Amino acid sequence: MTGSVGALPTRSIGIDVGGTKALGVALDEHGDVVAEEKRPTPRGADSLGPLVDVLVDLARSLGFDGHLGVGVPGLVTRQGVLRAAPNLDGVADFEVGRLVSERLGSDIEVDNDATCATVAEWKLGAAAGTDNMMLVTLGTGIGGGMVANGAVQRGLNGFAGEFGHMVVHPNGPRCPCGRQGCWERYASGSGLAMLAREAATGRRLRAVVRRAGGDPQDVRGEHVQAAARDGDPEALDVIDDFGRWVALGLSNLTNAFDPEMFVLGGGLAAGADLYLAPIIKWYGELLYQPHLRPMPRVEFAKWGPLAGAVGAALLPSIDRVA
Ligand SMILES: [Zn+2]
Repeated sequence: MTGSVGALPTRSIGIDVGGTKALGVALDEHGDVVAEEKRPTPRGADSLGPLVDVLVDLARSLGFDGHLGVGVPGLVTRQGVLRAAPNLDGVADFEVGRLVSERLGSDIEVDNDATCATVAEWKLGAAAGTDNMMLVTLGTGIGGGMVANGAVQRGLNGFAGEFGHMVVHPNGPRCPCGRQGCWERYASGSGLAMLAREAATGRRLRAVVRRAGGDPQDVRGEHVQAAARDGDPEALDVIDDFGRWVALGLSNLTNAFDPEMFVLGGGLAAGADLYLAPIIKWYGELLYQPHLRPMPRVEFAKWGPLAGAVGAALLPSIDRVA
């Protein structure tokens, strides 16, 4: 344990429900992960009853004794009702909190998966010891969460933290949310691929296009990363441009919330060595009134794929915002 989480029960269970698997962990009283199990997420029509079965089964298998938190990939109310979840089948006002609580005979906590990851980084990860931090997950899209003055912020409906849908270009590419130019169209894994394809169709990025098999439309983020690691200057230009888009959103969030630090998580954290320097360079240039404040720290997450489950396990033990 590297952070400070206060008194923990001897066993806290956390489950992170993803589109393909439900990942469960058990933490001991020190916050150390002592067990880990996963199950496939039930799919298709009528999959929600089986999903409740999976959650109950995982919790019991991991030694549930009264402390369970569940992270879910969607908009979830403070009462544990999942209102919408694009990556789960058939979700509409799914009362996952009540259904699992009734089966286990004990109250449980349910929260958004990115909020859970925020709790993990805040209490036991890169942001341990801070009271004002923001997590930004750079994956297929962008998610996030926020701690202000020592309390997790969820907003009126529990929907806070959808940073990826800040519009940064009103005439930009269309987003699945129905609008145009959302931040995640540029600063996520799919954003990196789009920036690379744009560069490639402009007859640049020849080395990257070769790696992708010759067609600019097949260029993906990993091709850019691999070429950048080999020192290809055109690939490094795309990484620099990507860093500027990430930093633009961070500077907007800084103006709104004035955090002490950002923790960057999600799938792109695996390329932290490539991205961190350009992100910090552009963030320094875009930061409002930099002479009046210490520049907020920007670091990559400590927890990888376990972040959501670890943070879910901590939910019953942290102070909640009513
Ligand atoms: Zn959007």
